[in-house]
Amino acid sequence: MPELPEVETVRRGLVPVMDGARFDKVEANRPDLRQPLPKDFVRRLEGNTVVGLGRRAKYLTADLSSGEVLLMHLGMSGSFRVEQDAGVRTPGAFHHPRSAAHAHDHVVFHMSSGARIIFNDPRRFGLMLLVARGTLEDHPLMRQVGPEPLGNAFDAAMLAHACHGKKTSLKAALSDQKVVAGLGNIYVCEALHRARLSPRRSAATLATRSGQPTPRAAALVAGIKAVLEDAIAAGGSSLRDHRRPDGELGYFQHNFRVYDRAGSSCPTRGCMGTIRRIVQGGRSTYYCPVCQR
Ligand SMILES: [Zn+2]
Repeated sequence: MPELPEVETVRRGLVPVMDGARFDKVEANRPDLRQPLPKDFVRRLEGNTVVGLGRRAKYLTADLSSGEVLLMHLGMSGSFRVEQDAGVRTPGAFHHPRSAAHAHDHVVFHMSSGARIIFNDPRRFGLMLLVARGTLEDHPLMRQVGPEPLGNAFDAAMLAHACHGKKTSLKAALSDQKVVAGLGNIYVCEALHRARLSPRRSAATLATRSGQPTPRAAALVAGIKAVLEDAIAAGGSSLRDHRRPDGELGYFQHNFRVYDRAGSSCPTRGCMGTIRRIVQGGRSTYYCPVCQR
């Protein structure tokens, strides 16, 4: 499942060909992805201009001149391929390679920018919905989504408030989209390592008894923001030299400090620990038991 940095790099890759461009023609090659495509999907897009391409959590949001928002989610295996006279590229950098089999090209946007934007999704867990702009925040998919980790509002006080009295581990709390949006297994592990906090630690220890943030909350917010910013910066730079139509080959993994690195020595300066893998909530957690407490 792509996490926030992957989705953000996809957004940045699509902005030049999609933002400000009109849907000249739309092809829907099948009636459904994870859910059926919206009623009159093609008609509601064609002739409309994208007036803003944004992101909320792991969703891309294309604001349309019609007043609707095209809400898009990549699911497990979805990607956008951009075809132009200049060549083909797949914006984003994914831990797992993307498919290029044309049999999985489910939706094609022919934009007035001259680009064809092709949504390819072998497993079809992706999603495309059309929602009235004014109702987006109340949509069932959006209502449960917590604060944006890179937004100014997300700070130690907000994180401490969300974790105050929680009986779960830090790993589980950060994986909860209501606590903070867009983090998955990879960046939760990476952020906890940067903050030197154990994934097994109780989430409640981010707050004092009265709910005020402890220094741990501040360290964790800083760790979350830093790991996401670094990953986005790395993904963004990979767009320039990324011209393969078959997807990026695990670009981010070279930057991981703990994720998928069980048995390696801890990269924290001065730490002699070894990265360990444990299972929490059915998912692998990677951490250093020496410097993460
Ligand atoms: Zn360590």
